[in-house]
Amino acid sequence: MDSSTKTVVTLVLLVGVIAAASYFAVRRSKPDEEKLGYTAVLMCANPDCKRQYEGRIVAGTPPPFVCKHCGKKTAYRAMKCLDCSGIFPLVVQEDPTKPESEEIRTQECPECGSRYFEIVPTKAEQKEAEKEPRATEE
Ligand SMILES: [Zn+2]
Ligand SMILES: [Zn+2]
Repeated sequence: MDSSTKTVVTLVLLVGVIAAASYFAVRRSKPDEEKLGYTAVLMCANPDCKRQYEGRIVAGTPPPFVCKHCGKKTAYRAMKCLDCSGIFPLVVQEDPTKPESEEIRTQECPECGSRYFEIVPTKAEQKEAEKEPRATEE
């Protein structure tokens, strides 16, 4: 087998594998999408990690979430301070009896101590916000 034949064979195999993988991914993702959940910007509170990324949260799952970078259960919703623009993880106590809005106000910005901060929007949410005027959404 010369090298060009080899490349073609590899390509054909690769395409086949990708096709099969996406076929199964599509089939498998269907029931997952029916599960209630949302994409959110998360931030890891682990000082050795502190990464920020977009992750999928299944509805009803209380923080902390498992960080996809360090694998520790130290990921929280990322918040943006409205005063100093600092981004920090919203470390909330696990209390399912409290509504989320109440939990949000129990923490201050670690940079400036402000209590005015908002959830960091995902890329998709940012796009939506650019498209539509913000007034439509409360
Ligand atoms: Zn981490
Ligand atoms: Zn701040």
